[in-house]
Amino acid sequence: MISALVRTFNLVSKLSLAATIGAGLISGDALAQQATPMPGSAKAIFGAVTLPTQGLPQSFGFYAKGCLSGAVALPTDGPTWEAMRLSRNRRWGRPEMIALLERLSRDAAKYDGWPGILVGDISQPRGGPMFNGHASHQIGLDADVWLTPMPSRTLTAAERETLPFTSMLAKDKFLTINDKVWTPEHARLLMRAASYPEVERIFVNPAIKKKMCDTWTGDRANLGKLRPEYGHDSHFHIRIRCPAGSANCKPQAPVAAGDGCDKSLAWWFTPAPWAKPKPSEKPPAKPREVMVSDLPKACQAVLNAPSVASARAATFGAKAAAAGTPTGAMPVSSADTGSTPPGTVPQQ
Ligand SMILES: [Zn+2]
Repeated sequence: MISALVRTFNLVSKLSLAATIGAGLISGDALAQQATPMPGSAKAIFGAVTLPTQGLPQSFGFYAKGCLSGAVALPTDGPTWEAMRLSRNRRWGRPEMIALLERLSRDAAKYDGWPGILVGDISQPRGGPMFNGHASHQIGLDADVWLTPMPSRTLTAAERETLPFTSMLAKDKFLTINDKVWTPEHARLLMRAASYPEVERIFVNPAIKKKMCDTWTGDRANLGKLRPEYGHDSHFHIRIRCPAGSANCKPQAPVAAGDGCDKSLAWWFTPAPWAKPKPSEKPPAKPREVMVSDLPKACQAVLNAPSVASARAATFGAKAAAAGTPTGAMPVSSADTGSTPPGTVPQQ
């Protein structure tokens, strides 16, 4: 069991690392790579689980420390979305998150001149910490969306693994948007995502936030939901609030009032956030690896709970589709997996 786990881990680790390096996206991302996980390692154990639990969706704990039961998968394809990096098996989330992504994709196509979205990492089948790429995404309420529009054709599974990320930043300039890649449609997509009441935060690169502050001429009531964060220059990260009735989901304080185009943004354009520790300073102690026992107690029960029969059975809209009810979603593919760009994440 353990050796199978370690083998799975090594394989996944190599694949992820290859994908990361292939995409040339290392700096600014919190990549927690290591050769051998400790026994009890939460990311090794949650990362090896391939299917969600049966039962109703529940989030346990916080965005950056928790787990998830009753997850559903975003279908790999829809009329206005495609799920990316399917081998990662991270297209799982709360039904509220999946519904939000599908709605965003439809609205963006209908109103914002954005042909459809490419969806990156959501959560693992039972949430929990990941081998690489994210501190959060643990309770099914975070999702990454590429800042690359969906192509007009269906990408193959191989293309979904290798399509490179496109940074919105100008090369060789400090925190500056590349106006050759940034468009008004990008701005509309972000504000569309911010417009939904259940969306509490959207993490973007500080240069993107500044661009929005400088150029957005529409209603600025939701601009404050756009939060500057390291990385996030080729994708943005949507975080929704704990759904009603989620007693075990730990909420995050709402963002401060205002558009956020203030001192808190200006700070990112000072040396402070980018300063390397001085050689005289002791490097910070490496944090101890997170164990399953560090997570909310319920997470061990989530790991022990019986699985759904298949990924297909737990794909969002599958039941309705089986009953012949139109859902707006395309037929579900049999691919077992899901997801994205590495990104630091945001506990702010
Ligand atoms: Zn993210």
